Formats: sequence, structure tokens, C-alpha cells
Amino acid sequence: MKLAIEPVPAPLWNFNLREFMPESGWDKFHRSLFNFNDLSCAVCRKKVDQPSSLHVDEVWSYDCRGRRGVARLEKVRLCCWHCKKGKNLDRSEHGHRTKSRILPDAVDHFCRINSMSRQAMMLHMKRAFNVWEDRNKLEWKVDWGSYSKLLHVYYEELPSPCWFTPTAELV
Ligand SMILES: [Zn+2]
Repeated sequence: MKLAIEPVPAPLWNFNLREFMPESGWDKFHRSLFNFNDLSCAVCRKKVDQPSSLHVDEVWSYDCRGRRGVARLEKVRLCCWHCKKGKNLDRSEHGHRTKSRILPDAVDHFCRINSMSRQAMMLHMKRAFNVWEDRNKLEWKVDWGSYSKLLHVYYEELPSPCWFTPTAELV
């Protein structure tokens, strides 16, 4: 599967490089991601005309074997809007035609690049959200992986690893 639905566990919302870097540092890093000779999506390889059509996508792994989960930032890539949206497809966004056609387009794109029927996509999404609900209940440690070097430029002490519990309403 080229692209999987994998919503970020709720306790980890806002844990992303952009949140943890000053704007100037983020801008510099963001620019370094672009290959201006080949502006294309890292997932579906679609070519785009402008850098602004590519969106930063952080690829995290989630290790839930221990008492606490460990979220590790594995890589950062640039992808098109449809792939970015596809990874975060929401249960409320599938299937139904809307006036804008934006969301059905994301669903169609997801099915096309994965060579997957809509029915198989629905099953995959159901499973993904079951996993997500389990992950929401965990305490997490954030591991910035090789990107911690980047954060070290700005912080004497890294803002991770940090343990934190899910918010009360999610438990
Ligand atoms: Zn794409």
C-alpha cells in the first residue's frame, strides 16, 4: 500500500517540527526539503507547478508494545494535497458527495494510488480508526529521531522525550 490512513493519536496533536521550531528555523528547513528541479509528490509522484502545492508530511512510527507508547519521527517528505488528505481521511468524510467534491476526490485518489476498491478502503479506514482509538488512550514518549539534531540548534534541552497522558475527555 503506497498510502495508509493513519490519523495522529490525539495526545500527540501539535507534536510536530513546525510547532517546536522558531519560524525562521522552520522556513529554512522547509526550503531545504524542496528539489526545485523536480517538484513532485513523494507518495504518488504527481508533478506540481509550484512549491506551495506540496505539503510537509511527517512520517511517524508508533510503538505500542510497552506500557507507554513511543512515537518516533522517521522522516519528513513533501506530498500533494490529495495524499496528505488521504492519510488523514476522516470517518465523516467518506463516500458522500459534497458540493465541493474535494473530499470525494481525496477518496478517489486514495483508492487509485493504492489500486484499492472503495469497499476495501472503507474496511482499511475502519481498522485504522480502531487502532487510533486504542492509541488515544496511551501515554506517549516523543522521539524526534534524527530530527532531534535540528531541534538541538534551538534548544539546550530537547522538548522530548516527554511523557504525557491523554487529556481527560479522551480516557
Ligand atoms: Zn500525492
